[in-house]
Amino acid sequence: MIHAEVARDVADLTTRGVVPGLTVVLVGDDAASATYVSGKEKASRSAGMSGATIRLPATTSQAALLAVVEQLNADSTVHGILVQMPLPSQIDPDTVIRHIHPRKDVDGFHPINVGKLLIGHTDGFVSCTPAGVIELLVRSGVQTRGAEAVIIGRSNIVGKPMAALLMQGRSHADATVTVCHSRTRDLSAHTRRADILIVAAGRAEMITGDMIKPGAVVIDVGMNRVPDATRAQGTRLCGDVHFASAVKVASRITPVPGGVGPMTIAMLLKNTVRAAERSLH
Ligand code: NDP
Repeated sequence: MIHAEVARDVADLTTRGVVPGLTVVLVGDDAASATYVSGKEKASRSAGMSGATIRLPATTSQAALLAVVEQLNADSTVHGILVQMPLPSQIDPDTVIRHIHPRKDVDGFHPINVGKLLIGHTDGFVSCTPAGVIELLVRSGVQTRGAEAVIIGRSNIVGKPMAALLMQGRSHADATVTVCHSRTRDLSAHTRRADILIVAAGRAEMITGDMIKPGAVVIDVGMNRVPDATRAQGTRLCGDVHFASAVKVASRITPVPGGVGPMTIAMLLKNTVRAAERSLH
């Protein structure tokens, strides 16, 4: 549904003379990153956007990558720039993020966009995964007003922006938020009182049914590849939540794969459309 909405917006902008353009930069040959990038490429094409992926070798220097970013900043046909993380060790990710023009930072990682999110300004870009989680909650009719929301994970790309969004004080984001992390004492005591439990720890199936409040809404952000001898490739993808036990307790739960992942990509496309729209003004 959301992809159809994006495709409609793209068609509308195209008739107004602007084809939203997303350029993804992939440095190195990390298999998981390559899969994410091709998913983003496919989705942007199927929505009618113009898109390109710039593939650079793992040996690329930071200066060379910054030069590519500068070129994209100056290119008026590129509305959104995404540099796929993680980057090889010779490149500092924060330096790269700060070089992307905030108006083209469709990942929402630039400090200006992060700051806007925190103070509640809506003219910035919000990190795609937390934005996608809010979209899932809204579209499923989940009430956040006064709800106890517990987030596991405090990363800059998921946990922190998720907390900022949920406590923003708008009708769809009006929860009492607790953020847990690896130093949290008695994690279950927190998870068991959550009306909305959002798990982004990167620990395969760490949240089991007994850690969940009956009737809670559970959002599983985790994407972990674990060994599985029953699969042809010898591995399978799973979330941070043990689905089989959690589904018996939760009122709603997102699957992995298939829940937050596709929504994250949809938000990336939405952000690119917004960036293109703004280029008209
Ligand atoms: P990070 O590794 O950056 O952060 C993980 C967070 O979880 C940290 O804050 C860490 O705490 C906390 N944590 C780790 N172990 C525990 C534990 N045992 N108990 C409590 N907290 C713990 O990961 P990301 O935020 O980048 O990603 C999290 C997961 O989400 C990953 O599986 C990733 O693949 C997935 N992901 C999925 C996306 C999607 O589109 N579906 C997009 C982005 C991420 P501390 O800070 O103390 O170390």
